[in-house]
Amino acid sequence: MSVTSNIQQILHELPVGIELVVVIKGRTQEAIMESINAGACIIGANYIQEAEQLNRTIGNRVRWHFIGYLQKNKVKRAVSLFDMIETIDSRELAVEIDRRCLQSGKLMPVLVEINSGRESQKNGVLPENAEELIKNISLLKYIKVMGLMTMGPLTLDSSELRKCFRETKNVFDLIQRSEIPNVEMKHLSMGMSDSYKIAIEEGANIVRIGTKIFAT
Ligand SMILES: *Cc1c(COP(=O)(O)O)cnc(C)c1O
Repeated sequence: MSVTSNIQQILHELPVGIELVVVIKGRTQEAIMESINAGACIIGANYIQEAEQLNRTIGNRVRWHFIGYLQKNKVKRAVSLFDMIETIDSRELAVEIDRRCLQSGKLMPVLVEINSGRESQKNGVLPENAEELIKNISLLKYIKVMGLMTMGPLTLDSSELRKCFRETKNVFDLIQRSEIPNVEMKHLSMGMSDSYKIAIEEGANIVRIGTKIFAT
């Protein structure tokens, strides 16, 4: 199977209204270009440098989502390149993004990352702490909370994954109902190659897929 046929199959199968983020970590420029020519619209990057290199070639033909762990000292570069940052998990990080956005005259859509698997080594905020964080960062002027993202636990146990996705969706609904000013709960980014079908069943409207596209 080629990258082109993989991506066309996934795009064909995705229900209407579900967006595909093509996750590029470690892939060749050639393979990534093939995915874009085959219809990829959103690129998901875990690393700033990898995205910057690619951005020089591709530019604004695609939208750019940051999906990795964002270090504070790289926020300035992230703000200048990305159209959305999916991995906000602290007030400190949100404040730094807000500050850099003010300097560059940008409004950054962000998602709050939920540690739905409750794994101590994972990034993300615990489900029960999400609302407080969102209320807190909703006061910042140059970022806009637009939803949630979760990785889910590192397991192939589908009932375990489903449970975590469901809990994240419950948090999403709760925050949507609380109608926090300057917060627009629109995107729910959950599911990767091995889990995106379950994630969609549980309410995801963004899926992030790498291996299933690029492993040919
Ligand atoms: C790598 C990665 C993905 C994609 O995982 P695959 O199993 O390759 O589809 C999705 N989201 C994040 C945050 C990742 O780091």
